[in-house]
Amino acid sequence: MAAYDYETHDYDVVVIGAGGSGLRATLGMAEQGLRTACVTKVFPTRSHTVAAQGGIAASLGNMGPDHWQWHMYDTVKGSDWLGDTDAMEYLARSAPAAVYELEHYGVPFSRTEEGKIYQRPFGGHTTEFGEGPPVQRTCAAADRTGHAILHTLYGQSLKNNAEFYIEYFAIDLIMSEDGVCQGVLAWKLDDGTMHVFNAKMTVLATGGYGRAYFSATSAHTCTGDGGGMVARAGLPLQDMEFVQFHPTGIYGSGCLITEGARGEGGYLTNSEGERFMERYAPTYKDLASRDVVSRCMTMEIREGRGVGPDKDHIHLHLNHLPPETLHERLPGISESARIFAGVDLTKEPIPVLPTVHYNMGGIPTNYWGEVLNADAENPERIAPGLMAVGEAGCASVHGANRLGSNSLIDLVVFGRAAAIRAGEVVDAAASPAEANKASIDKALDRFDHYRNADGGTPTADLRDEMQRTMQADAAVFRTDKTLAEGVEKMYAVADKMADLKVTDRSLVWNSDLMETLELTNLMPNALTTIVGAEARKESRGAHAHEDYPDRDDKTWRKHTLSWVGADNRVTLDYRPVHLDPLTKAKEGGIELKKIAPKARVY
Ligand SMILES: Cc1cc2nc3c(=O)[nH]c(=O)nc-3n(C[C@H](O)[C@H](O)[C@H](O)COP(=O)(O)OP(=O)(O)OC[C@H]3O[C@@H](n4cnc5c(N)ncnc54)[C@H](O)[C@@H]3O)c2cc1C
Repeated sequence: MAAYDYETHDYDVVVIGAGGSGLRATLGMAEQGLRTACVTKVFPTRSHTVAAQGGIAASLGNMGPDHWQWHMYDTVKGSDWLGDTDAMEYLARSAPAAVYELEHYGVPFSRTEEGKIYQRPFGGHTTEFGEGPPVQRTCAAADRTGHAILHTLYGQSLKNNAEFYIEYFAIDLIMSEDGVCQGVLAWKLDDGTMHVFNAKMTVLATGGYGRAYFSATSAHTCTGDGGGMVARAGLPLQDMEFVQFHPTGIYGSGCLITEGARGEGGYLTNSEGERFMERYAPTYKDLASRDVVSRCMTMEIREGRGVGPDKDHIHLHLNHLPPETLHERLPGISESARIFAGVDLTKEPIPVLPTVHYNMGGIPTNYWGEVLNADAENPERIAPGLMAVGEAGCASVHGANRLGSNSLIDLVVFGRAAAIRAGEVVDAAASPAEANKASIDKALDRFDHYRNADGGTPTADLRDEMQRTMQADAAVFRTDKTLAEGVEKMYAVADKMADLKVTDRSLVWNSDLMETLELTNLMPNALTTIVGAEARKESRGAHAHEDYPDRDDKTWRKHTLSWVGADNRVTLDYRPVHLDPLTKAKEGGIELKKIAPKARVY
């Protein structure tokens, strides 16, 4: 057994992750007087949330009529009827208060002439239950909304005495014999010491796993560590086959051009100079939802109408917009276009391509953020002591496809909900149960195993193989053949984990070992994604299956659950979608017939 000393820290709550969701949860816990630790592998304001540009959705109605029920309808439709209705109601109804709360915490939102929060149009956000014109619902701080939110929440958390453990890498959950989460084992990156955070509630806010793919808009730190820890604890992941491709990643670098660019009037063209979205989505055109626009772009390219020498990308035009608009509303992307595409967007179009952007799937939770140890027989069973929020979680409000600006609102609404729930279930007066030594030892052994890994395959090579396989076989277009082959290839890639080679054996700033641990987290996320996709014989949201082009609600309106065994093989099961909203129509809720499934056209 590996011999490592560790320091033990007792808390009421440990939050892992300091992105928007982790900070909102941390702040809410600390505000209630719960002793709260926030453990993060990067400095809080370097979390991927900092890169969110476009904005945060809430039906404030500052720029024209809006209603939470319209926001809820758009979210249900955006999810392609896979989201949980109760959670989607909770999101849409809580959104305006959550945005005003951010305003009062100090987020410097852009303003209208009268001084109200500025809101812009975003894809899939409409009026009158999808019958009316697009709505301006996305609240923005220029094109740096995530940056503004993250800095504000970090300041507020410090003000409320939350304690931060910065550049600590969480390795594994500590689980009691009877399946209660008791905290986490973490490695302090700058001095190599080990730390047990023993807590009555553990909150995973570790973000997405975009880096399972070769081209992604997300940070290199988005490695699905929470999903990896959950899978190793024997708990399921949910709806992993639904991966969002953003229509406008810069060709080559993958760097994001916000949907706000099309919200402000930008449009896409093919090699014939045609605004092709008018043909596919006559009503909402370039502002149809992301899966639709990404698929249309891919179709244009496949049919030979891509731009560039290899006809392999599409043009995004902003050059017709007034320079003041670009300067005021989109300053950040003017810079990105210059640096990453060498383009002056006041004069030329930006070369773009659909790029992995967001993971709809993740750790299953209810709308309080409590993690579900679900299977078909026990679809609502709670995993005690464990919560998940943000992109790591799956509540599920985004179902098969997330609408733009619905993630930032998800972070703060569910970060807050988790804090409220923890306030109810955590007994601040009690001392935490002693952490299970066997579970700590198991985590240390795993760490030691990879630290001393002495095979023939460097981590970077295996990661590259995984990323290219996922990019080729689990991307926008999927067929029975490519998916079946992809599963076999991914199993072969996973088997090579046994042959990893780590060259640096030290404990201080060992990025080789950290990236290896991240790869052990990416792998279960990638495997469940492709195996879940192979099994789902329909098209829904981001899962567009060429052999089954239609949505099949009778058989497939259900959540996929997936487990990863010690042999890296995936087992699947399913649980029902929540069809009932929180509030009945006669008590002010949405009418069920308004959100009944229908064809999804934009
Ligand atoms: C370029 C870009 C632009 C976007 N723009 C928008 C937008 O305009 N509107 C919108 O709604 N959504 C947007 N999104 C999506 C949205 O920003 C993300 O889904 C969201 O920010 C994720 O937040 P999070 O709190 O879940 O995690 P993150 O912000 O990714 O933070 C994860 C945290 O977990 C910590 N962590 C992870 N693993 C470990 C570990 N092992 N140990 C310790 N700590 C760990 C990290 O240190 C980090 O603090 C955008 C996404 C991208 C990539």
